[in-house]
Amino acid sequence: MGKCINCGNEYTTISKFLGICRDCILSDFKGVESLIRKAHQISREAFNLPPSPPQEKGGISCNYCFNKCQIGKGEVGYCGVRENEDGKKISPPPKQGFFSWYYDALPTNCVGDWVCPGGTGAGFPRYAYAQTAEYGYKNLAVFYHGCTFNCLFCQNWHFREDLKMKMPDSSAELSLAVDNKTSCVCYFGGDPSPQLLHSLHTSRLALAQKDKKILRFCWETNGTMNSRFLEEILDVALESGGCVKFDLKTFHPSLNIALCGRSNDQTKINFELAAGWIKKRKDPPLVVASTLLVPGYIDRNEVYLIAKFIASLDPEIPYSLLGFFPHFYFRDMPPTSRRHAEECKEAAAEAGLKRVRIGNIHLLGRDY
Ligand code: SF4
Ligand code: SF4
Ligand SMILES: [Zn+2]
Repeated sequence: MGKCINCGNEYTTISKFLGICRDCILSDFKGVESLIRKAHQISREAFNLPPSPPQEKGGISCNYCFNKCQIGKGEVGYCGVRENEDGKKISPPPKQGFFSWYYDALPTNCVGDWVCPGGTGAGFPRYAYAQTAEYGYKNLAVFYHGCTFNCLFCQNWHFREDLKMKMPDSSAELSLAVDNKTSCVCYFGGDPSPQLLHSLHTSRLALAQKDKKILRFCWETNGTMNSRFLEEILDVALESGGCVKFDLKTFHPSLNIALCGRSNDQTKINFELAAGWIKKRKDPPLVVASTLLVPGYIDRNEVYLIAKFIASLDPEIPYSLLGFFPHFYFRDMPPTSRRHAEECKEAAAEAGLKRVRIGNIHLLGRDY
C-alpha cells in the first residue's frame, strides 16, 4: 500500500517509490515537482545516468532527440547512449550502436500485429507473403539499449545494465541477420530515438541485400526523436509496408514528467506529424498507437483524453491498450485489472476511435 506524501491518501495504486498520487500530480504539480524530480534522480543514480539532460557550456550539442543535450568532455547524454569522449565528437558514430537482437516467429506478440501484414496479411501481395498471418516467416527484433525517457514502471529496464558495458556493434553486422525467412524488422528498446541513424543505415543495407523480397521495417517509440529523423523513418516504413508504433504514455505533460521524467510535448508534435502521413498508405496502417495502463495513474479519464487526441487526427488509427506488470521502481503495484482495461477500452471508443483493442490480456489481474 503506497501513501501520497502530499495529501496523505493511501491506496495499493499509489507507488511507494514515487509517493505522490495522480490527483496531486494533476492538481498541485508545482507543490510536488521537487519530490518528483528527486525520485527520478535517485532512480537514475543507480545506473550512473545524469539526473537531467546535461547543458554544459562549450559541450557538444546532440540533436537526435528533444532532450537537446550539450554534452561536456567525459559526460554522457540523458539517454546514456551518446557521449563526448574526447571533447571533439560524440560517440558512438551513426553506423555503430548499442543493441541486442533476436528472431521472433510470426505472427508475434507485437504492438502492431493485429493490423499489420505479418499478423493479418494486410497489404497482400505487395507487403505480405500470405493472405493471413505469415506462418513460417520471422521478425528480426532489434532492442536498442538506452532511452530518452525515464519511466519508473519500465517494462524492459534491464537495458540500463547492458548499457554499462558500452559494447557497440555495426549496422553491417546487423543487416546480415536479415535472412530469407525474415519478413520484418522491428526497432524498439529502450527507445530507438538516440540511435535512429543506426537503424536507418541498417535498413538501407538490408534492403540492398534483399533482392526484391518482402521486407518491412517498423519502429516502436515514445516519439521523442528529432522530427527530421521521424520523417526519414516514416519514409522507410511507408515504402516497405512497415509502420511506426507510438507509445502514448499520458495525455497530461505533468503526469508524463511524474512517471517518465520528461514532458510529452515532443511526442504529441511528432504524433501529429506522423498522422499527416497516413493518407499516403491507408492499408496496412502506417501509424499505430498504444498506452500502458498503469494502475492508479493511467485511468479511464487519461485514456479518454489520449484517445480524443488520436481521434482528432484520424479515428481509424489503431489503438492498443496494454496490461502493466509490476517492474522496476513500480514493482509494488498490482497488475492492470480486467475491469480497468475494459473501462479504458470503452473510454477510447467513446472518444471516437474505431479500432481499439486490449493487448497482453494474459497479464490482466484482479480488481484493485
Ligand atoms: S539522443 Fe537525446 S538524450 Fe541522448 S544525448 Fe542526444 S539529445 Fe541527449
Ligand atoms: S514488426 Fe511490423 S510487420 Fe512485423 S509483426 Fe510487428 S508490426 Fe507487424
Ligand atoms: Zn495525493
